[in-house]
Amino acid sequence: TSGERVPALVIGTGYGGAVAALRLAEAGVAVHMVEMGMAWDTPDSDGKIFCNTTAPDRRSYWLRTRTKAPLNYFLGFPIDRDIPRYTGILDAEDFAGITVYQGRGVGGGSLVNGGMAVTPKRENFAAILPSVNADEMYATYYPRANSGLGVSLVDPAWFDTTPCYQYSRVGRKHAQRSNFPFVFVPDVYDWDYMKQEAAGTVSKSALAGEILYGNNHGKKSLQQTYLARAKATGLVTVSALHRVTSVSPASGGGYTVVIDQLNTSGATTATKTLIADRVFFAAGSVGTSKLLVKLKATGALPGLNNEIGQGWGDNGNVMCGRANHLWDPTGKLQSSIPCSGIDNWAAGGAFAEIAPLPTGIETFASFYLSITKNPHRAAFTWNAATRAVDLNWQTAWKQPSVDMAKTIFDKINAKEGTIYRTDLFGVYKIWGDHLTYHPLGGAVLNKATDNFGRLTAYPGLYVIDGALIPGNTSVNPFVTITALAERNIERIIATDL
Ligand code: FAD
Repeated sequence: TSGERVPALVIGTGYGGAVAALRLAEAGVAVHMVEMGMAWDTPDSDGKIFCNTTAPDRRSYWLRTRTKAPLNYFLGFPIDRDIPRYTGILDAEDFAGITVYQGRGVGGGSLVNGGMAVTPKRENFAAILPSVNADEMYATYYPRANSGLGVSLVDPAWFDTTPCYQYSRVGRKHAQRSNFPFVFVPDVYDWDYMKQEAAGTVSKSALAGEILYGNNHGKKSLQQTYLARAKATGLVTVSALHRVTSVSPASGGGYTVVIDQLNTSGATTATKTLIADRVFFAAGSVGTSKLLVKLKATGALPGLNNEIGQGWGDNGNVMCGRANHLWDPTGKLQSSIPCSGIDNWAAGGAFAEIAPLPTGIETFASFYLSITKNPHRAAFTWNAATRAVDLNWQTAWKQPSVDMAKTIFDKINAKEGTIYRTDLFGVYKIWGDHLTYHPLGGAVLNKATDNFGRLTAYPGLYVIDGALIPGNTSVNPFVTITALAERNIERIIATDL
């Protein structure tokens, strides 16, 4: 209700927001969470909450009239199709030089992602978060995050025999024949459930190709983990389809938070105002950065420092496919949940996930999402003419990522006598270099904030999401986002409340 006062308001329900809400509630603080996306807790007319990747409908995209699939061509033909405009689950947010994919809904990115839950190697941590005590992270907060998220590894014996990971086994064989380290990648998917899917005893999700637009079964998104525990405290409420547009100091102390209520066409149906003693920005790297840059530039929070909007990176994401020989089929049944990768970080600056192409037909293709040590960092700025926030990422800045990915795949192609696929991202285009799944930074820890996420010019304002991380995590980011949030909220509860 408008005008109400709340002790803690959390903007966004992804990893950072879910950790903050749970730990604050456990400490006895009532929390109100505001989420611009839908609740995703009610089946649609087909009996399912989420639509399938192969049959995207209105549920698939955030306010688009045509799908914008990350992998947008197949055999050289475009695969995007028209859909009704709706507050769907995946946002393909276009900036001038890059499309940033993000989850929209209660659970944030956990709704749409592949669940790959990777803790960076200890020796890489100093480059990821230089001001954070690594011993504490690896002794306490990474284990806490892994346990809270429900992370586990595929059973290697099952992996070796199941048809749905033939694509990974082909990836392993090719990696090892070129002397690259092959690694299993942990995930939050329920592996026992996946075995039952393979046995045909339960409804299929990973083995029905569900990914990107939500998983109806098997995946432990934040709805099943942190957010379920937060709600069980009885102290956490969530408003879905509500978007925060402003935060500014309130005359009587605390902060005035302005919130638009949205309908499923994305239109504002009401504007509400709350007073919050504390506000946690957990709108994701892009969402938090856009809000803070706007609030600084438009005079709502003019005292924010000049690091706001800086230090944004794409985690070096780049995709590619390889065309295998006919004796190396990758399987017509492919689990949509990746479980393995090729680690060439130390030698070549690339960590490649062996990814599925769950088309339902044999493609003889190996597909990879590489995370690379791309050095470029972009900045968000306020554009007074358009009254929007711009990001100055340049298309050409992906070249280092392509070069690093090639340290793996040029060598494998040479060894195997194979070539790159040229039909997955356009007509004769090898590299998926127009996008990222892993936006990071924009309100970097110990620069835009203090070393625990406090926006020190404004006591009671905090950043607690991927915006804190300066552009790269060397692996998939959500375990690090969760662990850092666990670290920061513990300190904030101990000293600020
Ligand atoms: P988010 O999870 O993005 O949550 C932010 C939330 O805030 C969103 O729900 C958003 O709708 C909401 N919001 C934004 N602005 C506002 C506002 N103004 N008012 C109210 N609400 C707002 N990472 C991995 O580690 N492993 C993977 O396998 C993996 N696969 C991925 C696959 C895809 C397709 C995508 C898109 C991402 C993937 N990621 C993966 C990345 C991972 O999901 C993100 O890094 C992570 O979700 C970021 O967490 P966060 O807490 O920073 O923000």
